[in-house]
Amino acid sequence: MEHALLSASSAARWMACTASPRFEAQFPETTSEYAEEGRLAHALCELKVLKKFTNSINTRTYNSRLNKLKKGPLYADEMDRTSDLYIEHLTEKAMGYDIPPLVNAEVKVDFSEYVPDGFGTCDCIMIGGDMLDITDYKHGKGVPVLAEGNPQMRLYALGALKKYEPFYGGMIKRVRMTIDQPRIQSELSSETITVDELKAWGETIKPIAQTAFSGFGEFKPGDHCRFCRGKAQCRARADVNTALEDFKGCLLPTAENREKAQHGGGNVLTNAKIGELLVRGKDLVQWYKDLEEYALNALLNGEEIAGWKAVAGRSNRTFSDQDAALAAVIAAGYDESLVYEHKPKTLTGLEELMGKKEFAEKIGQFVIKPLGKPTLAPMSDKREPYSTAAADFSGAAQGEQQGASS
Ligand code: SF4
Repeated sequence: MEHALLSASSAARWMACTASPRFEAQFPETTSEYAEEGRLAHALCELKVLKKFTNSINTRTYNSRLNKLKKGPLYADEMDRTSDLYIEHLTEKAMGYDIPPLVNAEVKVDFSEYVPDGFGTCDCIMIGGDMLDITDYKHGKGVPVLAEGNPQMRLYALGALKKYEPFYGGMIKRVRMTIDQPRIQSELSSETITVDELKAWGETIKPIAQTAFSGFGEFKPGDHCRFCRGKAQCRARADVNTALEDFKGCLLPTAENREKAQHGGGNVLTNAKIGELLVRGKDLVQWYKDLEEYALNALLNGEEIAGWKAVAGRSNRTFSDQDAALAAVIAAGYDESLVYEHKPKTLTGLEELMGKKEFAEKIGQFVIKPLGKPTLAPMSDKREPYSTAAADFSGAAQGEQQGASS
């Protein structure tokens, strides 16, 4: 698949670290099972959009292409349901227009007016009234992606405007950008801005994109490093994470704790200092894991990593032929009911079996969501602070529910 150096999907990274596009270009592109699953799910979505909204495909071709996709080794029934949900969401949107909008799937767009050599593919574009409407399907279920201020969506929107403005003239006044991530977000995430606002944003990123394209960008490590191909071998990231003298400011005795030290208390870190250290060391753990992953792969590829070797990890005993082993247990006189366990499916398994809609209708009333275990988060995190009182109440409510069902 062809990729732009400054792709829309990596825009959040190259906008923050303008050195990253040229730096990571030296490392080979890799793919993962997750990425391949995503590609298959997108192909299903595209096919269903074409069938539902366009005349470009007849039922026979649709069925044959659908069956072919379903034979893919990574196909899962869940994809059929999430792509159906995607179509439902698009249908609801289309029904919101006074007259049926134009709908296109997998539209290649060019945003090189703002980003050198920039192009990409929009999953679905709808145009009706004064609105240009872009929807991006996300199959991943790791991190929820939001539409608000999302540079990937805005770049797609700029490309789509360039494509459709010549036909629609000044009719298009607003742009709605939506992310549909049905596996982890039941609500769509959307942002609507005016065409003028979008173009003004495009102007602000032009110089950043030029710098990133030029190869004279600045290395700026941060959260965005985790999707960079050079994340393990990047010196800038290593420098930040090994700048241990940075921590000294947190630990050097101040006049105040020198005073305390005289009374035996200066060696104890205050909660304020611990808060500071947590911020400064935030990326250390992930960086170390990335180094480990890189080193293990290098060793397995026959390279040397000074002072390290690959060894076999822990493993558990398993049967070479489970059916034969179980048959032997039964033959030895043990009742089959003792050999096999009859277990219900998990909540998620049942939801996958029934689909979200039927699951909600038939057994939604039995679902409760207890408060999660307390976990540490920076103040900028959007979640409410953990409340012990709420946890006690949630535990009590759960107890009542269990009591009622027993
Ligand atoms: S690892 Fe981080 S700092 Fe280094 S190039 Fe990639 S994004 Fe930039």
